[in-house]
Amino acid sequence: MTAVSKVAVVGSGVAGLAAAIQLARAGVLVDLFEAKNELGAAGSGITLQGNALRAFDALGAWPDIEAAGYPFTGLALRAPGPGAPVVAELPDVKSGGPDYPSTMGMPRAELAGILLEHAVAAGVGLRFGSRVTSLDSSDEASVEVFVDGDSAGRYDLVIGADGLNSRVREMIGIDVKPEPTGMGIWRTFVTRPPEVERSELYYGGPVYIAGYTPTGENTMYAFLVEKAEDRVGVTDEEAAAIMVEESRAYDGPWNAIRADLQAGGTANYTWFTKHLVEEPWNRGRVVIIGDAAHSCPPTIAQGAAQGLEDAVVLTELLVAADELTPELWNEFHARRLPRAKAVVAASVQLGQWQIDGDREADAGGLIFGIAQKMAVPA
Ligand SMILES: Cc1cc2nc3c(=O)[nH]c(=O)nc-3n(C[C@H](O)[C@H](O)[C@H](O)COP(=O)(O)OP(=O)(O)OC[C@H]3O[C@@H](n4cnc5c(N)ncnc54)[C@H](O)[C@@H]3O)c2cc1C
Repeated sequence: MTAVSKVAVVGSGVAGLAAAIQLARAGVLVDLFEAKNELGAAGSGITLQGNALRAFDALGAWPDIEAAGYPFTGLALRAPGPGAPVVAELPDVKSGGPDYPSTMGMPRAELAGILLEHAVAAGVGLRFGSRVTSLDSSDEASVEVFVDGDSAGRYDLVIGADGLNSRVREMIGIDVKPEPTGMGIWRTFVTRPPEVERSELYYGGPVYIAGYTPTGENTMYAFLVEKAEDRVGVTDEEAAAIMVEESRAYDGPWNAIRADLQAGGTANYTWFTKHLVEEPWNRGRVVIIGDAAHSCPPTIAQGAAQGLEDAVVLTELLVAADELTPELWNEFHARRLPRAKAVVAASVQLGQWQIDGDREADAGGLIFGIAQKMAVPA
């Protein structure tokens, strides 16, 4: 028996796909509603910490992810200026425990594709082009889901994994919303120069942070974190030109990144946000997970990892129980809230130190502390 036998998942990001895969593998009938017509994974590459990799293993997806990504060890801090001198090398903490690499980079589109394949194999009913517009929870035993105003069926549980601007969050009366942190990020997908074998960050210079992460034998993504600007309407050519100009103070591998940008590379822009919904994340038979429940600047690259942990812990509890009880929700919140809170607080603090120009701040210590905390499973 499982606590639920028919579940609607809203959203096909990492959190929604992970929850759907786990429940379907346990024999639960799962329909996944996604507003977009096809899988979308904007934003170039992603850095996956060990605790994210451990979560993929729980889903049965780790061998495929390991084969598709670029595992590496450690993080270097470099300074702006000639020669891009390495000023610190951070100790390696395996935040997923000893069985996984400490970190891995991969193209977001590949990650999304692998999770989708696992969802199909598990038997998840995929409803692309289906925007959930309302929920009716008036019946205590089930929730009715409406897509574009029409009923799409009744479910024992609705999992709102519908991202930062979650409609499900609003529908259940939670009015917490993501707030800008004051930083914006340019990201581009480029060729990996052979000397880039791990993530490297440059603190200081014309932007707050410049950095890159390898995502494959031939690919990596590079980024510049600046003061949040209104960049609406910037064309692809203008975006690439801005990244070229803002990165001129950075030497080393940035020379190759600029060459790629000048040869027709594209860049996208987004603001950093922060929010954390206090417990409970559920209202009756509707629960939010992933970015719907929490967001943070990617200063320690833990956002997706936290959404994955939400999905793995929630589904583990749902599969082990016979019914949805207050005790199940209590355990879910006890296992997830402290970790999500610690990650949001540390990520926001790291960004704030950059904004304040605090040169004494112990960024390495903060990153190391979170990795150690995450090494113990949720
Ligand atoms: C610049 C930046 C860099 C980042 N880098 C990293 C990193 O390196 N490592 C890391 O771990 N994390 C990183 N993150 C965080 C990570 O990207 C997010 O935490 C994660 O992708 C959120 O996944 P999700 O499944 O919760 O939501 P999403 O991926 O946002 O998915 C939500 C889905 O719900 C759908 N949807 C919305 N409304 C509805 C509706 N009403 N009906 C149906 N579908 C709907 C949307 O179309 C979307 O597909 C970064 C974030 C940013 C902003």
